[in-house]
Amino acid sequence: MYHIFSSKITKSIGDHSHSHSSHHHHSSHHHSSHGQDEKKRFNGKILFIVVLGLIFHSVFAISIFDIYFRSPLVHGMTPHKVDLPAPAQRLVLFVADGLRADKFYEMVDQPTDLGKKVSRAPYMRDIVENVGSWGVSHTRVPTETRPGHVALIAGFYEDVSAVTKGWKSNPVEFDHVFNQSTFSFGYGSPDILPMFSDHVPHMTSESYPPEAEDFGHSDASFLDTWVFQKIEELFSNSTKDVELKKKLQNDKLIIFLHLLGLDTNGHAYRPYSQEYYNNIGIVDRGIKKTVQLINDYYGDDKTAYVFTADHGMSNRGSHGDGERANTETPLVAWGAGVRGPLSSSLQMDRVTKLRGKAREVLNVNNETPENWKLHNLLRSDVSQADIAPLMSTLIGVPCPLNSVGVLPTDYLSTDGKYTTHALYANTMQIWEMFKLKSTQKKENSYFYRQYSGLVGADKIIGQINTYMENALYDDAQVLCLEFIDLCLAGLNYFQTYDRPFLMTIITLGYIGWIITLCLYVVNNYTTVGFKCDKDKVENLIPSIDKLSNYLIITMTVLLFGFLLSNDSPVLYYLYCSFVIFFWGKTIPANVLPFYLYLQSYMSGNGSSISNRGTTVGQSSSSSFIDYLKIAVFVVIFMELLVVAYFDRRVLSVLYVVVGLMWSVGSSSKHIAAPVKLCWLLSCLSMAIFPNIGLDYGNDTRLVCLGGILIFAIGSFTIYYVNNRTNWATTVPSSTSGKSKYIQGALLVSILFATWLVFSTDSALEKKIGLPYFNQLASWVMLVASAFLLSPLKGKHHYQHWVYMSLALSIPFILLSINYEPLFFGCFIFNLSLWMFIEVGTEEKESNTQQQQNQDNVTSFITQNDITRSIIYVCLKRKIFFCYVGFFGVGNIASISSFEISSTYRFTTIFDPFLMAALLLWKIFIPLLLVSISYSLLNNRLHIPRPASFLIVIAISDIMSINFFFLVKDTGSWLDIGMSISHFAISNAIIILQLLLSGVSSAIVPTSFKLKMKQ
Ligand SMILES: [Zn+2]
Repeated sequence: MYHIFSSKITKSIGDHSHSHSSHHHHSSHHHSSHGQDEKKRFNGKILFIVVLGLIFHSVFAISIFDIYFRSPLVHGMTPHKVDLPAPAQRLVLFVADGLRADKFYEMVDQPTDLGKKVSRAPYMRDIVENVGSWGVSHTRVPTETRPGHVALIAGFYEDVSAVTKGWKSNPVEFDHVFNQSTFSFGYGSPDILPMFSDHVPHMTSESYPPEAEDFGHSDASFLDTWVFQKIEELFSNSTKDVELKKKLQNDKLIIFLHLLGLDTNGHAYRPYSQEYYNNIGIVDRGIKKTVQLINDYYGDDKTAYVFTADHGMSNRGSHGDGERANTETPLVAWGAGVRGPLSSSLQMDRVTKLRGKAREVLNVNNETPENWKLHNLLRSDVSQADIAPLMSTLIGVPCPLNSVGVLPTDYLSTDGKYTTHALYANTMQIWEMFKLKSTQKKENSYFYRQYSGLVGADKIIGQINTYMENALYDDAQVLCLEFIDLCLAGLNYFQTYDRPFLMTIITLGYIGWIITLCLYVVNNYTTVGFKCDKDKVENLIPSIDKLSNYLIITMTVLLFGFLLSNDSPVLYYLYCSFVIFFWGKTIPANVLPFYLYLQSYMSGNGSSISNRGTTVGQSSSSSFIDYLKIAVFVVIFMELLVVAYFDRRVLSVLYVVVGLMWSVGSSSKHIAAPVKLCWLLSCLSMAIFPNIGLDYGNDTRLVCLGGILIFAIGSFTIYYVNNRTNWATTVPSSTSGKSKYIQGALLVSILFATWLVFSTDSALEKKIGLPYFNQLASWVMLVASAFLLSPLKGKHHYQHWVYMSLALSIPFILLSINYEPLFFGCFIFNLSLWMFIEVGTEEKESNTQQQQNQDNVTSFITQNDITRSIIYVCLKRKIFFCYVGFFGVGNIASISSFEISSTYRFTTIFDPFLMAALLLWKIFIPLLLVSISYSLLNNRLHIPRPASFLIVIAISDIMSINFFFLVKDTGSWLDIGMSISHFAISNAIIILQLLLSGVSSAIVPTSFKLKMKQ
């Protein structure tokens, strides 16, 4: 085999029927050993393509990290300190994990006196109105605990990839506010504290054991009371412990209280629950007590207080994406160095102009909501990272070295001199980061393009210094802020330095892959491949090989040379290798038949097509038009699915269209009227689901109803299969005792799972924790249903389908919290009908065709028809069903909307990896169901599986390219985060399809065919 990736052009043209007859039952009797050999080699190639596809998509999906999420950290800068006395000696930082701004600020009716409005946090409300200053802190995606705390305390936005690098250990060392303090004390969650205190000898931290974060047991607010208690203990211990007392008397001291209760209660009961509201009250009282304690202890008014949150919480009880409920958190500061409340008449813009990394445009609502009742007060908004320089400035330590935060000067009560010097230190710190990045880039790249915005930097710095010497503090501050904006833009410039080059490479890679797949299918499954002139191909191969070698050498020298001269990361070489492989090797190796076909088509005669009949020339031109039609149809369909990412209702429309197509269309003459009606009804019921809102809570009744629906559908189909055997005409209608037993067991298991959900949920509602028996039974059912998939074998296609769909229903019910099982039941019914109709149609058609082809020796026409039927019948629907399965119950825009509470029947202790695995299995199940039905259908209809499968992949990749270009780096973070997750999802779906094809071919036996034929 000379060509690694080429089809068997040279070998099998002429005797192609061998390799294909094996898929085709008409001629499956005369297998030669040579044919078997061909088939083996052929399957080897498919396997190679699948593995290559897996690697390719995994690598290219990671590319967005190189393009959009490079780690911003650089090392080797010197800290810049203000040489003036700081306003505060110590700082207390309260972080209410998962507290969203509106639930904190809004005023609500007092339960006893309805006319009167009260705050859920009366003490903090008093601070906002009479003592300190307030605003909204805008966080960035991902709105997760770890990146939120890094932004707050270290002042930079961690790249998304860090989230995957574990929760406790630091992928890289970074500087933060605690690091700069003389002593720090921290109390809170074991997920967060060690991240800051592990390598800092002067920080003392204490955490509760991880098991304490149990969603199932009562109220989580005890996590907060624990923290407040620890603070009390700290100060009471200091009366006995001289060493500790000395530490506490030091200046530049930080006390950090991480309050996880709200996050845990929000996940468990959602942020509009009484539990969440009560927890706000508990935090409020705890802060009141702590502040009094500290003020009494020191009695010097030298303490500054900052209260904020790391991220918000959506109504679904989740966070992670850029929804406003997630990105808007409260910020309240008071005490030493912080200004008191100011009238809103001083507000220049409605909201303070936000600065931040490269002037990010946050999804900011300028309007302060009416029910906050804060219109009379000045509101100062910040980007989350700005809180780090604010804290540094208050206690007079240098800003964290990698901070991109900009000191929010309107929080300060300090005089012009101190404020300006602090802002100047902040400016120099960011400027130095820019200088370091630009030097690094200059040293490493051959064709260095410098950032034009900062050419006159020295002049600006000189000007700032002049202003400061002459005490023109306002002018100096304005210039500092302008200069910071330039530096941040410059940092962004270097952050995205490689982007144009990478974008080109990635696009070329995707296009190369799609072309390769298409050429492969064209060569192996269409007349273009079968009918091309073998001799001509043989003659052209040497020159093509030469061309291919030249291409590979040229591209390798150019691309790798460029990468080497720029000192690029290893992954860049991998991206380029794929591009070189596709464009230099696989495309040239597969292009010949198509090239000859095009040549003959253009010249208008069928000379290059072998002399198989007089009508061949005509049919080639008509099939060309056919391909064009198909291509146009496919592109329209894929674009509609792209639209479906932004509006799920498109799926509903598509469902209605599909439903009507078969029930009233011309292609449905032979389908019986009741079946048509069922199909239409089933499609219409499926069309409902994409319209249901996504902010749903738990509803055990709907889960139980869904379980019963699945049970009913299962019983009905089993009854139907046992009594009517249209589906497998060759199988005797009697059901053996064994299969009766299996069916019964599956149906009983479904009812049992439904009962488990019901009893577990009522136990959790009573807050008596997760019953041990229920937990054990759930796990047993989950594991057993997964392991039974492979040994469970139906006698014929339909029985196998019933087994598979019932077995998969069990874990799905256990992982459901609302209407998902109803969706799943309808989905099973819909897929079953689809398969039923498809088989009926095919059998009618093949019967008539068999008669026509009786005297025809070759199977060309049928093969051509199969090609067409692959494209028309299966592909579109497979992709369509996949998307329905994936998005029917989840939000298309964000992974975070897959509810954590779905996993409460298995565990209630917070464990991100176990919970993510369970959720993935839940997402996986509908997709697996589609794959199984597809494999079964392919088996039943004798469609060559690889061909249709490869086309599915190629078409799905059109979508990936689409989303790759739709990825944004400007605009609101909601849009950016969404566009990136779209790209990630479209890649993940292809990877899933590749994996699922493996799984479903493992659990769908190919042996029915043999049984049925004999
Ligand atoms: Zn959090």
